[in-house]
Amino acid sequence: MVQTLIDTTPPLPANAVQAEGLIKVYKGRGGPKKALDGISLAIPRGSFFGLLGPNGAGKSTFINILAGLVMKTEGRVAIWGRDLDRQPRAAKAAIGVVPQELNLDPFFTPRELLDVQAGMYGVPRAERRTMEILEAVGLADKADSYARTLSGGMRRRLLVAKAMVHTPPVLILDEPTAGVDIQLRQSLWTYVRELNRTGTTIVLTTHYLEEAEELCDRIAIINHGTLVACDTTRALLGRLDSKSLILTLDGDLTEIPAALEPLAPELRPDRQMVIRYKPSAMPVAAILEAVRGAGLGIADLSTEETDLEDIFLQLTTRQ
Ligand code: ADP
Ligand code: MG
Repeated sequence: MVQTLIDTTPPLPANAVQAEGLIKVYKGRGGPKKALDGISLAIPRGSFFGLLGPNGAGKSTFINILAGLVMKTEGRVAIWGRDLDRQPRAAKAAIGVVPQELNLDPFFTPRELLDVQAGMYGVPRAERRTMEILEAVGLADKADSYARTLSGGMRRRLLVAKAMVHTPPVLILDEPTAGVDIQLRQSLWTYVRELNRTGTTIVLTTHYLEEAEELCDRIAIINHGTLVACDTTRALLGRLDSKSLILTLDGDLTEIPAALEPLAPELRPDRQMVIRYKPSAMPVAAILEAVRGAGLGIADLSTEETDLEDIFLQLTTRQ
């Protein structure tokens, strides 16, 4: 069992992160820019939470406010039950952030970097887990190499290691797999999943939607600084209420039987027929009955779910 600087004795907060009415206005040279326009969001303790949104939606701004790297303009934030304004140190100690940018001091070695970071968080020497963490992110053999000699993927993993030195109960990863090859991505996810399994709350932003769909149990979608969806991944995927039934017929078909026209089937090569339907309104059995009733034989069938991509586009492309 790993030691935590944070009190993890009960009662534990129900929400690892709670944000209310979060507003951020950047005072840029080109005039003020409202990056967050009143975001209220709860991230349940223990969840693997996805924060999605198109480029410029405000994801990094949100995350950087939680991390204490960007000052919010208005609103309230509590991390692990600690108010960011009233208990800033305690709130910061509960969180580890893997930033979007790969900035690392090129003349530090991974071992030095983790030691400095542990010192900053006041982790006593005897409790430091430098090698254990480097091992976990697959950098043990690079412990004494200069950061500038590490590849992009290794730097990304070193940033994950750095965010974990104080064993925060909440780990936030901002687009951690951008530019990381598939193999490293897999090993990173294996590690992060294990952290989540053992109780760490994970907050992830990514633009790989399949990745979010596979990993996250809850997903929030933001667009133009406002929350457009926040639900369990399952509920979100069920929201569109649309599925496709793909039938392989046992004979050639050149035109759609009149009896099936109301179902608006689409004919595809290789004797395939695709029927889109609303699961809430029409059971598959009824469709199959109609197809058989029209005198068609079915050699094979499968159904296709709507995926996160469909929902994401539906929620973020309309103005
Ligand atoms: P995301 O991470 O979702 O791509 P960001 O939070 O980085 O979005 O940005 C949200 C909006 O705020 C964008 O329009 C961006 O240009 C603007 N923005 C981000 N950082 C700054 C900054 N430091 N100064 C001014 N505007 C900024
Ligand atoms: Mg970003």
